[in-house]
Amino acid sequence: MKTIRGLIIVILLVIFLSSCAPAAPVVETEPPAITLPEPTPTFTPEPEPVLWWKDIVFYEIFVRSFFDGDGDGIGDFQGIIQKLDYLNDGDPNTQDDLGIGGIWLMPINPSPSYHGYDVTDYYDVNPEYGTMDEFKQLLEEAHKRDIKVIIDLVLNHTSTAHPWFQASQDPESEYHDWYVWSEENPQTPGPWSQNAWHRNAANGMYYYGIFWGGMPDLNYDNPDVSAEMMNVSKFWLEEVGVDGFRVDAARYLFADGFVQQDTKETIQWFEDWRSFYKDVNRDTFTVGEVWTNLQVTAKYGQGMDSLFMFDLAEDIKNSTYYPDPSRIIQSYLTALEYFPEEDFSTFLSNHDQQRVMSLYEGNVDKAKTGAFVYLTGPGVPFIYYGEEIGMFGNKPDENLRTLMQWSGETNAGFTPGTPWQPADSSYQEVNVAAQEGEDTSLLNHYRSLVNLRNQHPVLRVGAYLPFTSSCRLIYPVLRIDDEEALILIANLDRRVQEGCTISIEESPLVGDYEIEVIFGEGEFASISFEENGAILDFQIPVDLDPWECFILKVRR
Ligand code: CA
Repeated sequence: MKTIRGLIIVILLVIFLSSCAPAAPVVETEPPAITLPEPTPTFTPEPEPVLWWKDIVFYEIFVRSFFDGDGDGIGDFQGIIQKLDYLNDGDPNTQDDLGIGGIWLMPINPSPSYHGYDVTDYYDVNPEYGTMDEFKQLLEEAHKRDIKVIIDLVLNHTSTAHPWFQASQDPESEYHDWYVWSEENPQTPGPWSQNAWHRNAANGMYYYGIFWGGMPDLNYDNPDVSAEMMNVSKFWLEEVGVDGFRVDAARYLFADGFVQQDTKETIQWFEDWRSFYKDVNRDTFTVGEVWTNLQVTAKYGQGMDSLFMFDLAEDIKNSTYYPDPSRIIQSYLTALEYFPEEDFSTFLSNHDQQRVMSLYEGNVDKAKTGAFVYLTGPGVPFIYYGEEIGMFGNKPDENLRTLMQWSGETNAGFTPGTPWQPADSSYQEVNVAAQEGEDTSLLNHYRSLVNLRNQHPVLRVGAYLPFTSSCRLIYPVLRIDDEEALILIANLDRRVQEGCTISIEESPLVGDYEIEVIFGEGEFASISFEENGAILDFQIPVDLDPWECFILKVRR
């Protein structure tokens, strides 16, 4: 048998060699492949991007008015650096800062105006605010404290003083098509029926500018313009190191005949832009000003990471001013229908709107309930500077952007010099120094709520399940995730609410739970949920004082 088997092997070898032997010349062949066990892969797959913005509270700063670091009367980067510890000292264990995790800086580019929304150079900073090196120092100091920094990006228009526009006035210039020109006045009105065409004295032509004559709209039908603004975005992300952008006036990039806002070209542009900046740095965050109703705003959901909820802001403000909890709840539920990932951005007021304390007519308790609602609700909250101390401000715009009121000293402690505009007359009563040491101040209310939000992820991204109540002026909501369940209760009214009950048809909670009060003062022993997670007429065991707010931890 052995011999036969050997013979077969020899024959097979001969066949194999004769069929495979190479013809002359003989070349070196590779050594026979040796099969080894698959090595364990040493590379780790790229982790999912961290959606860091969903875990923080932002603070909107108008640099010119925040703090003057060099005494020339104009707020600046050094001033912000000096006040960073006020926003967040970088130590998560301290509670005497605001707990801010991100700053939005209103425009920092060179500009002839006080507000900066008419840019003259997209690749530099406003020298009144400091140098580019100082701005980078601000980024570094902020990042040390784990504060992210986003900047205003003004895409829609420039200043008439921008060199692009200056060149554009010459019809022969390669920049002529960077703006929208017409020999005759087309007399077509702008998106809100305003005059949108302005005569240019240099060439006698008319240019399109929907906001005012000093801010001509860029022509996004020109691919050079689009490419340039991609470049600008890349510059700030890559060369300077900002963490993202707040996008100004996002609705108006492309006009389409008589349709001048929310055109499909504009919406598409943002989707392309998002792919672009995510390629530059996938951790970039953008939040858009699409100032219209939620249904239209939602069309930009693929073009930016987050969008400001203007409808929700109005509902929260108006319904804490004149108590209407069901309107707030409905507004949140509608926002969550459009944005179930809770990635929308919330606020009370911003630099274009009446300050919320003026709406509340100085009523600190109402300001506290407004803050309570949105700092415990879904979305990414933005605080407009000074709102946390209850600064006042009515139109015109300059008065919405007055000096930050640090103390009752001269110029509200903003500058030792002559400020660019005077402090609001309220500064001796309404200021940071006065509220720091006062336990029940609005400032300490904000500090407690932001720090609680930082400590409890359920307040940031948990489900939002409203209760119904026998008291129609209280706001009762369950925030719940796999780890934690918190009950929010706020009395939005000026009267005591007695014997209120709350009910919910279903929830993930079943059985009896102890309650721990983590915000507010009162005794709540326990709460019981039925087998299907329902509660029927649970009696709140305390009377709710006017504007009183509670956060109750359900002990599981
Ligand atoms: Ca200064």
